[in-house]
This record gives sequence, C-alpha cells and structure tokens, in this order.
Amino acid sequence: EDELKIAAGAMNLKGKVVQDSMTAIEEVFMLPETATLNSNAIAAIMRAGYTRIPVFKEGNKKDICDVLIVKDLALIDPDDCYTVRMLCNIYKRPIPRMASNTTLFTALQTFKGGDDGHMALVHDAKNGIIGIITLEDVVEEILQEEIKDE
Ligand code: ADP
Repeated sequence: EDELKIAAGAMNLKGKVVQDSMTAIEEVFMLPETATLNSNAIAAIMRAGYTRIPVFKEGNKKDICDVLIVKDLALIDPDDCYTVRMLCNIYKRPIPRMASNTTLFTALQTFKGGDDGHMALVHDAKNGIIGIITLEDVVEEILQEEIKDE
C-alpha cells in the first residue's frame, strides 16, 4: 500500500510544478550580504536550523545573489567579524533559478545533476523571485508526506 502511494507520487511528478511545492520567499530565512558574522549572528544562524541560507543584496530581499552553506562557517572566527559577502566571495556558491512552471520531474533531474547543490530560486516573469525549492520538497511530493527533520 505504501509502495503504491510512492509509485503514484513518482508518476505525478510531471503533473506538478515547482510553485506548488516551494517555500514562499516571505518564509525563507535569509541574510543580507552586509551582515557581520559575529558570535550573535552565528548563533542566530545555528538556531534557525537550515543548511542553506540565501543571501540578498542590502535593501532588496528579492535580489538574491548567493547562498551561504552553514558548514562554511566552521572555520570562521567570530572575532574576525567577517561579513556574509566576504564568505560568499571565498566559497562562490551560485544559486540556480527555475521558472515557477518547471515540473517537479524536471526539477528532480536538475537536482540529480548536483553541481549547484540541492536548492533553486523559483521565479516568474511578473513577480521575480517568489520562493525556493529544494530536493526535499520534491521527495515529499513523491512520498506524499512531510519528512521529519532532526
Ligand atoms: P535543510 O537541509 O536546511 O533542512 P532541506 O533542503 O532539507 O533543508 O529542506 C527542508 C524544507 O525547508 C523544505 O521545505 C525547504 O523548502 C525549506 N528550506 C530550506 N532552506 C530554507 C531556508 N533558508 N529558509 C526557509 N525554508 C527553507
């Protein structure tokens, strides 16, 4: 019965688009590139609990230029007061974009390719960036249930 459900979820990947499964931009935990990575900021990032954090240009949350990976913070000394931008310049992790009407099937193919990590920005012509989608969002559509995170 569970297998049938998963099979049905997999077979419907071409019938759903990334906009249906994304996390809306208003709900995304992000950082401005000008933020200083002092101990308070690093603690807040850890508390948020996400692996990948989109980085926006000061003043415009829809102008996302980069993504910070929490493990990149491992070698940061909070007393050095690096900015997010300095870290992004070191690691250079571009974040791919997908049109809001991209099917989940195509999204899965893209994530499988792997070079860009397992997150993409979702955009449409009218509103610009409207959300983010990750591999986990696609897998949840296959399983048709939430994945519990630690
Ligand atoms: P993580 O590894 O950080 O737990 P996942 O890729 O497993 O992230 O995604 C889990 C869920 O959290 C997905 O619904 C995804 O859209 C959402 N998500 C991922 N990163 C963020 C973020 N920075 N802010 C808000 N939601 C996020």
